[in-house]
Amino acid sequence: MFVYLDNSATTKPYLEVVEVMKHYLEEDFGNASSLHKMGITAEKAVKGARKIVAASLKVKDNEIYFTSGGTESDNTALFGAANALKRRGKKIITSKIEHPAVLSACKRLKALGYEVVYINVDEKGLLNIEELKDQLDPNTVLISIMHANNELGTIQPLKEIGELKRRQGIAYFHTDAVQSYGKIRLGLEEIGVDMLSLSGHKIHGPKGIGALYLRSGCHIEPYIYGGGQEREFRSGTENVPAIAGLGKCAAMISERIENNAKKISDSRNYLLNGIKTEIKDIKINSYEDERCLPNILNISFLGIRGEVLLHMLEQNDIFVSTGSACYSKKKGQSHVLKAAGLTDKEIEGAIRFSFSEFNNIEEMDHVLYHLKNSVENIRKMTRKW
Ligand code: PLP
Repeated sequence: MFVYLDNSATTKPYLEVVEVMKHYLEEDFGNASSLHKMGITAEKAVKGARKIVAASLKVKDNEIYFTSGGTESDNTALFGAANALKRRGKKIITSKIEHPAVLSACKRLKALGYEVVYINVDEKGLLNIEELKDQLDPNTVLISIMHANNELGTIQPLKEIGELKRRQGIAYFHTDAVQSYGKIRLGLEEIGVDMLSLSGHKIHGPKGIGALYLRSGCHIEPYIYGGGQEREFRSGTENVPAIAGLGKCAAMISERIENNAKKISDSRNYLLNGIKTEIKDIKINSYEDERCLPNILNISFLGIRGEVLLHMLEQNDIFVSTGSACYSKKKGQSHVLKAAGLTDKEIEGAIRFSFSEFNNIEEMDHVLYHLKNSVENIRKMTRKW
């Protein structure tokens, strides 16, 4: 049995997405800027996808800009806003557990003379909202707080942050919704965000495609200059097959959010309960209630190295992660688990299980069986337990 539980790293594309992409690669392969009918067909595909993504967020079509993914959307939002607002103020507020797409951009902005404040989180990754409130001042021009964390699944109180932003007259509020988009419903108007990043490959769509929602009236500088595509905001020939694929998966996942959330959390909770009863000396790092996405579960298996467990599971065709895919090939500890205050041992033994609608209970029994055996074997081998 093959069990893929690394859906926060990337997801299996829907078959329908692959078919749509194939069509725009093999047949309607025109350039969306061409004046002839092949160009017009390609342009139509881009327009249709924009409509679907906008509808899924309940925003206007012209507030959606296609990018090469979550990383570019985050960079565009941060550098674009910082540049546009530099005369008004130079303070940016973010959190300690953002994705590197935000943290590395912030590091660069700091080097360019901006003040960046990193807000702390609790032991399961929930933002300290009081600390954020205390940091808001007239010099603050941008708040960038992720909607849900990619390692722990913790959902941040965006609505509260949006209210604070409004009350204090802060210029812009950006959220990285790469992990939450398509998993839980987002009411953008209610939240009050000005910019939102999303990515195709986390929702059974193609890699290398994403979008930035930019509220109309919110003016930021472009990040990529060139031929003036995407209404002069994001140049570069439109990746029509990927954009059409993103439109397809956005439409499919939007229809299924509630059903998926139920199905996915059933798998998650079944595995969690099984682990709790079958395996001792564990620490549950994710929230076990509505503060966590339905599809993420982070657990530390004490006394073992997560990487060793990952490879043992892999031998049985079970695929998990020790944390974010971005860190797995780099040396060093997860900055997210560190910020949540986990001990070195807890970080070392951490495994992230991330689920999708393609998982089922039978798979969870299979995972539990191999997980229990693997943990016991590793503990026996290392003679620490
Ligand atoms: N933001 C978050 C929270 C993510 O989890 C990821 C990908 O793992 C990204 C941004 C980057 O998105 P992309 O892979 O589309 O560049």
